[in-house]
Amino acid sequence: MAQLASIEPEFLAGHPALDFVNTVAWRTDATRRADRVSGPGQWRTWAARAGLGAPGRYDLDGLIRLRTALGEILDAHTDRAALPSAAWEVLQRMVLTAHQRAYVPARLPVRREPAGLTDALALRAEELLSGPSVDRIGRCEGPGCGWFFLDRTRGGSRRWCSSGDCGNRDRARRHYAKGQGRAHSSSG
Ligand SMILES: [Zn+2]
Repeated sequence: MAQLASIEPEFLAGHPALDFVNTVAWRTDATRRADRVSGPGQWRTWAARAGLGAPGRYDLDGLIRLRTALGEILDAHTDRAALPSAAWEVLQRMVLTAHQRAYVPARLPVRREPAGLTDALALRAEELLSGPSVDRIGRCEGPGCGWFFLDRTRGGSRRWCSSGDCGNRDRARRHYAKGQGRAHSSSG
């Protein structure tokens, strides 16, 4: 996977577990897919910006495994397809492990803390998928984009990861298509 270190990850999904899957740009286009976050330093910065604190343990293999499984599950969910059993197995195991490894630091109020970023994200994914927001998970309609978001519009009408990004591209495309149509009809 290509790595575009200069491109900043974005936080537009409305939930850290979805922003996590969105750290892959052009997720559903194999020719353009690119990792927006790589290496411990960038992941720590990402975690802080995602509001996950600065978890100590860093486990890149685990992060990528979780991100892939979560992406496949969310694709099936938004496609209204059966959940992929292998990905579900991975997620289930990672959520259970995160619960087992969680600890309670000696301070009040008592709060369970995940043992690292991968565990933190597994628990946030569990929270998302077990709560009412699961019905509001949508996927950008931009060709190749594949980014997920929580649709908080009243009528469930959000179509784009960002209106200024994929939404803009769609407007430009439709504008171009209309122009082409006009040129065609005037010549014929
Ligand atoms: Zn998009």
